[in-house]
Amino acid sequence: MNKHDSERVAGLLESSGLSHGPDIASADVVVFMTCCVRENADGRAMGQVASFKALKDVRPHTIIAVGGCVSQRDGSSLLRELPHVDIVFGTHNVGRLPELLSRAMAGERGVVEVLDGTNDFASDLPGVREHPWHAWVPITVGCDNHCTYCIVPRVRGPERSRTVESVIDEVTRLVADGVREVTLLGQNVNSYGRDLYGQPRFAEILSRVAATGVPRIRFATSHPKDLSDETIAVMASSPSICKALHLPVQSGSDRVLRAMNRHYTQSTYLSLVGRLYDAIPNLALSTDIIVGFPTESEDDFQDTLRVVREAHYDQAFTFIYSPREGTPAAAMEGHVDREVIQDRFDRLVAEIHSGATENNAKLLGTTQRVLVEGASRRDENVLAGRNEGNKVIHAPIPIGRRAEELAGTFVDVEITETHTWFLAGTIIG
Ligand code: SF4
Repeated sequence: MNKHDSERVAGLLESSGLSHGPDIASADVVVFMTCCVRENADGRAMGQVASFKALKDVRPHTIIAVGGCVSQRDGSSLLRELPHVDIVFGTHNVGRLPELLSRAMAGERGVVEVLDGTNDFASDLPGVREHPWHAWVPITVGCDNHCTYCIVPRVRGPERSRTVESVIDEVTRLVADGVREVTLLGQNVNSYGRDLYGQPRFAEILSRVAATGVPRIRFATSHPKDLSDETIAVMASSPSICKALHLPVQSGSDRVLRAMNRHYTQSTYLSLVGRLYDAIPNLALSTDIIVGFPTESEDDFQDTLRVVREAHYDQAFTFIYSPREGTPAAAMEGHVDREVIQDRFDRLVAEIHSGATENNAKLLGTTQRVLVEGASRRDENVLAGRNEGNKVIHAPIPIGRRAEELAGTFVDVEITETHTWFLAGTIIG
């Protein structure tokens, strides 16, 4: 969601006559888009904003704006800690940035505008896509769930859905503009439409987006309690919907899941995973796991390892529990020792690595359809892209071709090497 907001900020600033600078040190306007979901990201963002005091001392006319979740949470108090910041704007008023910028440029000091909510969607603003062939398309913003560790409902507000028509209009325009892959976004895409239509219409919007002719569709994130059999059927039957699903489990222990307020159990989660693999045998499944939630015991952790083994994840984002002020979990007793958490974290990562390596090994000798992203970061003679399972695939660039001209096209790659986090092969078509 932050990437999408950042693309909209770039689009808005370009429409206001600004252009992208070669580096931050020479920029006249610097915009930070912050995230407060975890302490680490929060601290790092604020550390970077603080370090810009030195830039401001040398170039006092540089305007520093801070947006995103941290601004939404802290509002004007951010200026007390970081007085060199010129503009603070929240998650609900990205579209107001040009106006706030004019005020700061006119000499107003400490411009702060943080709204409690709005019905505007950042998608209706001009955008500059990071990759011309890929677009983020929010279908909902905010969240009506109350997972006890999570700050998102506080900084993004209650769930609001865009109308089906607005989403389809946007995707149709994107397809006409050459976009090959869209990612539908929402904190919980599966409840899409509940606020507008009285019941979720995610399966329907997925089919409608598929009917626009966009070659690839991804979506994130799915709450296991709301993923319907109807959605699974649409995924299974539509060739353009990637056979990849991010299904955060967070913990495998029923006791911890209850304390997290997740509304499913280990057994209902694994039964959902079973139905998914039955319907989509080549599904690439990914997840999020929190280690060290308050009171998590070794037995609870063993339950999480059991889920990891049975769900056969291709990828898992693992997080050490990070207390967020104002969430119910932060006030819970029984915080787990740091060394215990680190030990569990290391064991979990080893288990996930071994499962991912095993899954990838099964792809040796297969042909994978890859959407090319460009040259690999490590070797400019090698291109990098992703298959529909979101796996990174490398292949030598054919003689006489350049990575830039292949970016955004599909190639078929025969897999000759498999590793834990990427596959490699040769282009055969
Ligand atoms: S569903 Fe996701 S965004 Fe919503 S409260 Fe739970 S973890 Fe946070």
